[in-house]
Amino acid sequence: MTCHDCQSALPELLLTPAATSNAAAREHMKSCSACIQEFQSLEATFALLDSWQAPEPSLYFDQKLAVRLREEQELPVAGWFERIRSRLLFNTGRQFRPALAGSLAVALLIAGGTFADISGFPHPAKTQISATVNDLQILDKNDQALQTMNLLLQDDNSSNDNSPALPSS
Ligand SMILES: [Zn+2]
Repeated sequence: MTCHDCQSALPELLLTPAATSNAAAREHMKSCSACIQEFQSLEATFALLDSWQAPEPSLYFDQKLAVRLREEQELPVAGWFERIRSRLLFNTGRQFRPALAGSLAVALLIAGGTFADISGFPHPAKTQISATVNDLQILDKNDQALQTMNLLLQDDNSSNDNSPALPSS
């Protein structure tokens, strides 16, 4: 048995030391100090994890959670696109995204397909655009309009001034 094989068998060895499938690893460890060291450090880690106490939730955790759940339930139902988006974002590991994107494309092709509404996951609330943001957007649009106008004026000027270059004699 190689050291690599032995070390990948170490967790198994730690959990069920007497199992016959671990005999080879046990044999290897008798003669290999590197693997013994690895085993001991793994053992120490597990011992530390055993002594770890999960913190108790705070006093009103359940009530607060219930209130937040109720708030989420009372939100207006999100559209199907929003639901699929949030499922892609929150419901799966990153590695499933390409597959889900593919199935989303298929779902879009088969328009009118129905989707099971199993998403109990929070979706961003449909936020009303605040007055401030609205003002900023208007300012931004005005700025863009002014810039476009400037460009047009510049074009105009340059085309007026654009006297054809004198042919060199
Ligand atoms: Zn070894």
